[in-house]
Amino acid sequence: MSTIFEKIISGEIPAEILQQDELCLVIRDIDPQSPTHLLVIPKKVIPRIGNAQKEDQATLGHLLLVAAEVAEKEKLEAGYRIVINNGSDGGETVPHLHVHVLGGRPMKWPPG
Ligand code: AMP
Repeated sequence: MSTIFEKIISGEIPAEILQQDELCLVIRDIDPQSPTHLLVIPKKVIPRIGNAQKEDQATLGHLLLVAAEVAEKEKLEAGYRIVINNGSDGGETVPHLHVHVLGGRPMKWPPG
């Protein structure tokens, strides 16, 4: 069964797509946890970072570069946080790898 992100990638479900390229797309999170909350999602189905393979190295690097690029476009010059949740203890709810970009407010440490 395909995940919500696969359905967004295929166009089956609408989302606010900020940008996309051959490897990934960037959408706004539907339930934002900060004033700016973006998701960078690879088009390739990788369930979670723990399942990534050596062959995914370029895609993984690309996701982080795109995360920094969209953070700049969203004018998060005061800073932002990049999060990847892995597995149930990590808070993962959608089993399709995605990078959260959170900004627009000061973040706390340690995270909850
Ligand atoms: P995670 O808990 O790390 O797996 O993150 C999944 C994220 O996807 C959550 O922050 C959700 O709010 C977000 N999400 C779920 N469905 C959608 C959707 N249709 N459009 C945008 N974001 C979504």
